[in-house]
Amino acid sequence: MKTMRVVQVARPGGPFEIVERPIPEPSPGTVRIKVQACGICHSDSITKEGLFPGIQYPRVPGHEVAGVIDAVGPGVPGWERGQRVGVGWNGGYCSYCDHCRRGEFFACVRGQTTGVTYDGGYGEYLIAPASAVARMPAELPPAESAPLMCAGVTTFNALRNSGARPGDVVAVLGLGGLGHLGVQYAAKMGFHTVGIARGKDKAPLARKLGASVYIDNQAQDPAAELLKLGGAKVILATATSGEAMNAVQGGVAVNGTLLIVGAPESIQVSPLFLLMGCRSVKGWYSGTSIDSQDTLLFSARQEVRSMNEIFPLERVNDAYDRMMSGKARFRVVLAFEK
Ligand SMILES: [Zn+2]
Ligand SMILES: [Zn+2]
Repeated sequence: MKTMRVVQVARPGGPFEIVERPIPEPSPGTVRIKVQACGICHSDSITKEGLFPGIQYPRVPGHEVAGVIDAVGPGVPGWERGQRVGVGWNGGYCSYCDHCRRGEFFACVRGQTTGVTYDGGYGEYLIAPASAVARMPAELPPAESAPLMCAGVTTFNALRNSGARPGDVVAVLGLGGLGHLGVQYAAKMGFHTVGIARGKDKAPLARKLGASVYIDNQAQDPAAELLKLGGAKVILATATSGEAMNAVQGGVAVNGTLLIVGAPESIQVSPLFLLMGCRSVKGWYSGTSIDSQDTLLFSARQEVRSMNEIFPLERVNDAYDRMMSGKARFRVVLAFEK
């Protein structure tokens, strides 16, 4: 029997274990993907630490998958062996629940999550529902593009659905794994892009990524600085600090939106400020497979690139620790030797 190496977590809070398993056969409605690279995301701690109820162990984490379809299960039209693909956080949807029938696939009541409800990309192969699979453009190298399947689609899809129009002031709060992509997408979409982060040393990076303006929220009042620009139509909040979100929201323009994709414990909002200016605070989910596919194509055409630190499978512990340390510049990726 042919086997594959995967990185599994045997119990909530347990260590990563590199184990050999039989290569699984794709069941109806699924494809088998030979993984070339998989990003390591902070949300992988959900599987590692058992933060969601009902996760079945052992489980293989990983929802930033780039690879090649290697076998197609029964009843899967439209996909074939050899196609380059990606799989992201949205691990597929049923197409027949009320949400799916309304086109709200992200809210599917039978929705799956890659690397959480089924085994993900920290391994040489994975089985994914066809509804979770996105086409990968030929020009995107796997290790480079894996993080686009989560950090990329989250920021791209949030911005393109934000209501901002070309020329509008759009600020990106935080210049980390999400933010360094958010600034690139915002600039390439034609927004007047503002990067906001801690410390003046990040200014050259923000400019290099495409920001026209940089605000150091340690030395400056970010809300006041945004109001000097007329206010931000959208502030894409990628930071995980509630205080940073509180400090920036006074810079939201009339009819503007504080658009949240980072998840601090809580934030404070001023109801009066919201209602006086018809302002909104809104969250945004990542995206489904077609959103990921659009993200990949836009990234390839517009040359949006994730900056990554790449590790081999054997160094999964180092790679995960590096991601959790918050010091990675900017995403961490497991790449597979073939
Ligand atoms: Zn993620
Ligand atoms: Zn559904």
